[in-house]
Amino acid sequence: MANQSKGSTGAATARAAFEYAPAPESRAVVDLKSSYGLFINGEFVEGTGHAFKSVSPATEEVLAEISEASEADVDTAVKAARRAYTRTWSKMSGAERAKYLYRIARILQERARELAVLESLDNGKPIRESRDVDIPLVAAHFFYYAGWADKLEYAGYGPAPRPLGVAGQVIPWNFPLLMLAWKIAPALACGNTVVLKPAETTPLTALAFAEICQQADLPPGVVNIVTGAGETGRALVEHPGIDKVAFTGSTEVGKQIARACAPTRKKVTLELGGKAANVVFEDAPVDQAVEGIVNGIFFNQGHVCCAGSRLLVQESVYDEVLASLRRRLATLRLGDPLDKNTDVGAINSAAQLAKIRELSEVGEAEGAQRWSPPCELPVKGFWFPPTIFTGVSQAHRIAREEIFGPVLSVLTFRTPAEAVEKANNTPYGLSAGVWTEKGSLILWMASRLRAGVVWANTFNKFDPTSPFGGYKESGYGREGGRHGLEAYLDV
Ligand code: NDP
Repeated sequence: MANQSKGSTGAATARAAFEYAPAPESRAVVDLKSSYGLFINGEFVEGTGHAFKSVSPATEEVLAEISEASEADVDTAVKAARRAYTRTWSKMSGAERAKYLYRIARILQERARELAVLESLDNGKPIRESRDVDIPLVAAHFFYYAGWADKLEYAGYGPAPRPLGVAGQVIPWNFPLLMLAWKIAPALACGNTVVLKPAETTPLTALAFAEICQQADLPPGVVNIVTGAGETGRALVEHPGIDKVAFTGSTEVGKQIARACAPTRKKVTLELGGKAANVVFEDAPVDQAVEGIVNGIFFNQGHVCCAGSRLLVQESVYDEVLASLRRRLATLRLGDPLDKNTDVGAINSAAQLAKIRELSEVGEAEGAQRWSPPCELPVKGFWFPPTIFTGVSQAHRIAREEIFGPVLSVLTFRTPAEAVEKANNTPYGLSAGVWTEKGSLILWMASRLRAGVVWANTFNKFDPTSPFGGYKESGYGREGGRHGLEAYLDV
């Protein structure tokens, strides 16, 4: 495996016979402030909680000091959102709301490079991904939902669908700005106002988005951003003044939120964890399938709720697929997230790294065989090499629990029926992948897999027009597409 910060290491790099020149994206496009306040009622204000620091996971450098929103700050934000809802936003026509959403979308495109660098700095993900996947999808979400704002009566939710009111939204750290877009764009399009809490470790792009709201002249209070940790999130979702809770994160916290909201009138959508099966049949084109496996689990360091973390390979092609997968992993480049050649960036936090290490050790202790390509990790920062476990049984914890890191568990099957049994043998049901040349087999599998999204001969493909969401403990409600409007309408 190639490693950028250490230069040429390992047999694989030696085979490559040449070294990549460093290609770092410039940090100069980002105007990083030393401290950030909360964004309430159209202005940045100091939080009354204890300020905390956001660090770069690749270097552990402190990037900025961030205000923490106390319960009182959350209350102020919810009241600002309510005022904006009753006085301005719910009274505005859909066509007027659309103008603001289009304006935000265009500014996001204009500031795309800056946002991509900021995201990679704060999150640790490769610039190639933030530049080519996250930020374009963020803008696409705003464009897409801007288009719905004046057509809601044709969305299939009645002749005059009404907004819910104030939405409290809590998002995770794996796709910080994209999760914000998934939450804010449909909420605003439907006529709601929002208070959003980004994750503690990745608040910077949400705060840049707050600046974009100012730039777009969005009426004060329509979007409010409250930074902080779990307690701030709890204060938000439990606030009696909100009408809707939208949460993406762990199943454990999702269950707490479902319990807290059950006795209230709040409408709730939860997008939680996953343990997706990526199923490779013997007739699949091996090279393409291997690319899909790599994209499925090593994209965004495996910090993806729908990651293809369980590979199910048909026994007859197991040796061929595994050999090819190992060869491919040896060519992945791990290192500086801002380098345009990087494939695998940093793990988002020390806590997440500890969790990945712990579950990987459990995998070995339970008898699975662990393999990573030769790879020296940078000394500073949080890093974990791409890792494969073979000899995994369904009872192993690494086959059952979400690791949320670059760790793949490989299992085998003989018949399609066995593949379905194994794929569905999980408390989760967010996504699945099927690799085969036979269209009939794809449809046969898709109708039996208990997963919100089934990809065929591809993986981790996202589009704002397509609904996304889970079965079972992966949560409920859909985000994206026409279906994503329902979560923000009184239907
Ligand atoms: P959490 O579920 O703890 O965090 C998600 C968001 O909820 C964050 O903004 C968090 O704040 C906030 N939060 C935490 N506690 C509460 C609460 N009681 N009430 C309201 N909001 C709360 O996920 P973690 O970041 O701790 O990650 C843990 C595991 O969750 C990962 O290892 C992974 O398995 C899974 N996960 C799944 C994701 C998905 O997309 N499905 C995304 C992220 C994580 P803060 O971060 O500031 O503490």
